[in-house]
Amino acid sequence: MLVLAAVAALTALSFKPIDHVLVVSVDGLRPELLESNRLAGLPAFARLLRGAHTLDARCDPSNTTTLPNHVGMVTGRLFAGPSGHGWLGNTDPPKPGAGGTIEEMHGSYVPSAFDVASDNGVATAVIAGKTKFALLKQSFGEAAGAPDRIGEDDGRDKIGVFRVCGSDSAVAVEALRFLRSSVRDHRRSLALVHFAATDAAGHGHSWDLREGSQYTKAARSIDRILEALLLAIESDSALRGKVAVVLTSDHGGGDPPSTHTTVTAPINFTIPFIVWRGTDETPRDMYEINATTRARPPRDQNPAAAEPPPIRNADAGNLALGLLGLGAIEGSTVNARQDLSVESPRGTSTP
Ligand SMILES: [Zn+2]
Repeated sequence: MLVLAAVAALTALSFKPIDHVLVVSVDGLRPELLESNRLAGLPAFARLLRGAHTLDARCDPSNTTTLPNHVGMVTGRLFAGPSGHGWLGNTDPPKPGAGGTIEEMHGSYVPSAFDVASDNGVATAVIAGKTKFALLKQSFGEAAGAPDRIGEDDGRDKIGVFRVCGSDSAVAVEALRFLRSSVRDHRRSLALVHFAATDAAGHGHSWDLREGSQYTKAARSIDRILEALLLAIESDSALRGKVAVVLTSDHGGGDPPSTHTTVTAPINFTIPFIVWRGTDETPRDMYEINATTRARPPRDQNPAAAEPPPIRNADAGNLALGLLGLGAIEGSTVNARQDLSVESPRGTSTP
């Protein structure tokens, strides 16, 4: 029995925690763009696929819009139900006190991955390409964040760096600056990094997957930005191999043609979910390596209550915390057991 317990403990700790995690959200990214026949023009995305991933993840089952899905990513909850986060707005939020925090909408405080990270002394950031992300600072900043009851008091401000940038390249510059300042402060870090160009191109010119469309050009431009970011990380000995990327999207797009509001449309609710742990690994299908805890739904479905559930963008928060060696978000319901694995069974992955 003792031996079995030791083996179980080793299995539970089958990877070493990483120092920095970037949860990268590419707004309105359709997974078809990352299929192998299109990847030649997207070297950074191709690289990030060298790890556990699926191109068949799902967004929130009850909405296919930006802000509710990002609230899901950071709180580990879906929108609906008593334990849902309850935030459905998708415009700049009202002021705090006038309905402008997640707590006000939900009825009680909804902790986030930033709470767990900040309370454990990990540096935190939200760097976004849309002003509506102010909701996160309003909900988890100094004025509304929960007291820190873990160890040394890291304060109520759960989002240490908050930036809204006017371009995707500025987002990447801020993300790199945040990583470097975390290293300088001898701190580990968690950041949500949001790129908006794909969504803007989709709204302006439709989610047109044909080569040369404005939408595919936007994806290429984000790819070049990611490539430069990865290069900068690898050129820095303090960061090389120490930064994991969890890349997903809030929604796809194209139904109706210049938006993404039809909640039952597979092209809106099917998204990629990619985990790259700082080094290139053998690509592996996340549904295969999570066969007992997650199930690939039929292509035309985004089931709200399936058991096992699909892999969702809302898995990102608790997965990111797990990569950092931290526990789950209190009250979360998606990946609350942090059982979404990135390892092949029986340790067959190539490190
Ligand atoms: Zn949009």
